[in-house]
Amino acid sequence: MLRKSCVTIVALSYLWLDVPFFSTAAFAQQRHTAKAAAEVTVTNPMSSYSDIVSSLVKKGLTEQQAYKNLAELTGKIGGRLSGSPQAAKAVTWGKNLMEKLGFQNVRLQNVMVPHWVRGKVEKAWIVGRKGRKNIPLAICALGGSIATPKKGITAEVIEVHSLAEAKALGPEAKGKIIFFNRPMDPTLVSTFAAYGGAVDQRGGGASAAASVGGVGALIRSMTLVVDNVPHTGVMYYRDSIPKVPTAALSTVAANRLSDNLKRNPHLRVHFALDCKTLSDVKSANVIGELPGTEFPNEVIVMGGHLDSWDKGKGAHDDGVGVTQSIEALRLIKELGLKPKRTIRVVLFMNEENGSRGGEGYAAQLPANEKAVAAIESDAGGFDPRAFGVSADSSVFQKIASWASLLEPTDICSIRRGGGGEDISYLKDKGAALIGLVPSNQRYFDYHHSDKDVLANVNSRELELGAIAMASLAYFISEEGL
Ligand SMILES: [Zn+2]
Repeated sequence: MLRKSCVTIVALSYLWLDVPFFSTAAFAQQRHTAKAAAEVTVTNPMSSYSDIVSSLVKKGLTEQQAYKNLAELTGKIGGRLSGSPQAAKAVTWGKNLMEKLGFQNVRLQNVMVPHWVRGKVEKAWIVGRKGRKNIPLAICALGGSIATPKKGITAEVIEVHSLAEAKALGPEAKGKIIFFNRPMDPTLVSTFAAYGGAVDQRGGGASAAASVGGVGALIRSMTLVVDNVPHTGVMYYRDSIPKVPTAALSTVAANRLSDNLKRNPHLRVHFALDCKTLSDVKSANVIGELPGTEFPNEVIVMGGHLDSWDKGKGAHDDGVGVTQSIEALRLIKELGLKPKRTIRVVLFMNEENGSRGGEGYAAQLPANEKAVAAIESDAGGFDPRAFGVSADSSVFQKIASWASLLEPTDICSIRRGGGGEDISYLKDKGAALIGLVPSNQRYFDYHHSDKDVLANVNSRELELGAIAMASLAYFISEEGL
């Protein structure tokens, strides 16, 4: 049964007053007016935005379809590194799912992606002294690294805590392995800030080591947990500097190596990798949408990245963003909502080691299309806390005025600044960039490691993120920005 609503009437009256009608105060007034306007029938089968949010919450938490989809993606396909057969399967999976759900204009958008392959050999140890046993070190190659020579590299080690410290090493660095051991700062409450403060070692450690004659670089894993699981991630070579192999050490291995170096500064480490980079591969972003009923050329994107690292199953990073975006649009569709503006899901390819999907999407935007906003989920499937918004002040204020409406989804605030790597390329197109901000204390326990699996995702937390995205995308579709 269609319910009566006053949404249209209130909107009109506020338009006449030339003030934005969509504020908390306006909503309070709207709900009062609802009783008086009982005879008015409107286009949407819900009486108000807060009722719509309630319905999204109820449906999402009952059906928990995001989790079922994540179970399928991680279970049947698993890790999906760009260029891999699994990434190709994920593209087909995403397209089939969107078609099955009845999304419209489901399509692939081709992009060329890098193709790095981990290989089978990843081993390291501290060479035992005088007939003693070697001491094992858990490592994994960093994405983009070259292989070691077949017999591996065996060399003395210099421990440093920054790229600058490595670059300042004198001739003593020649022929050595440079060991970057600056931990993520545990005193920062934001683990993303702690990650940002340490990750330059992973990205630039190999070139910094090679710039002073080092023969390899070992990097402390980007995690705050002390365990024996190494965390991979992308690294970059600088063209002007020779390439040397590089790997991440588990935090246990990094502590072990550091302790042993204190006792014996001349110890030697052996490590071997057989990873390689192949030619670029054709891959694709996967796109589907609900076209807008009034402004089809004005588009709100919801997205995450379909590729993942090959360690673990790419659950939190970023199977979560993929399945939340799909679920958000499914919920909107299944509730029978007809958005005024187009709401589009984009599963971006290649965020982890190239961002070709994000770049390609923005580059291929049709000239007659207006990128209104883009919402990315790429910070894990934990309890949603906020949306981070990068937009000019008036747009920010408009979105912030909806904060109380989002409270039933567990969103507590709208913060300044945010977005995501894939949608960052839409900044120049004028889109408001919005990132879903979940609780971040556990994200780097799992990030880019064998622990990034479904078992570490809570289905309710995951679903609430999808519901929050659906709510916000729908508000934008109705109100514009
Ligand atoms: Zn990610």
